[in-house]
Amino acid sequence: MKKIATSIWNGLLDFIYPRLCLGCNKVLLQQESVLCIGCTEQLPHTHYHHIHDNATFQRLEGRFGIGHATSFGYYTKGGLLQYLLQELKYKGNKSVGTFLGKSLHAALRNVDWLAEAGLVVPVPLHRQKQKYRGFNQSALIGQELAAGRGLPFLAENLVRIVDTGTQTAKSRMQRVENMKNAFVVKDRPAFAQQHILLIDDILTTGATIEHCALALEEAGAAKISVVTVGLAV
Ligand SMILES: [Zn+2]
Repeated sequence: MKKIATSIWNGLLDFIYPRLCLGCNKVLLQQESVLCIGCTEQLPHTHYHHIHDNATFQRLEGRFGIGHATSFGYYTKGGLLQYLLQELKYKGNKSVGTFLGKSLHAALRNVDWLAEAGLVVPVPLHRQKQKYRGFNQSALIGQELAAGRGLPFLAENLVRIVDTGTQTAKSRMQRVENMKNAFVVKDRPAFAQQHILLIDDILTTGATIEHCALALEEAGAAKISVVTVGLAV
């Protein structure tokens, strides 16, 4: 009965305040969220989870003990994924994070290697940045994936102690040096011997993921696999 009442209420809300598709501005149906079905089908999938030696894996290979790596879609300037991630990060539209996490889970539903991971860890934001934004976008996405797969989710144990995003005035050498010390693990035994699934929103050069992975390895993690929403191409 409660479910029916909620459904009627949501239908009424949609009538008064129609939710629009972020891709084409069409009014969303009640069962749709963020994107209409047509725009969802337009998402630039990589399908990399079917290929071990894919472009995401190659960008990270040799930099730490990597298991598997995949990206959900291609991230291009002016593309749909860039728009969605901007809505999430800079406009605080958290429903986009939930949508992307659920989409990631749906795309990876039958991927066997995901079951090898013991826990899901998002790339952390610096404390001040998270306070300013109000949430960590990679945590929102990772949480949905972890919940979908029934995997433990640990967001507070890997910590970013240097805000590497706000150091444009520093030299390249200084930035590389800062990145090396940017991440620490609070409770090392929680990661010891674990195969960790590290989640980030976008993979660009891979420097952030590399240094997260190195901090996880230093804490005793056995293997790191990586899933990102976007692969910058
Ligand atoms: Zn649409």
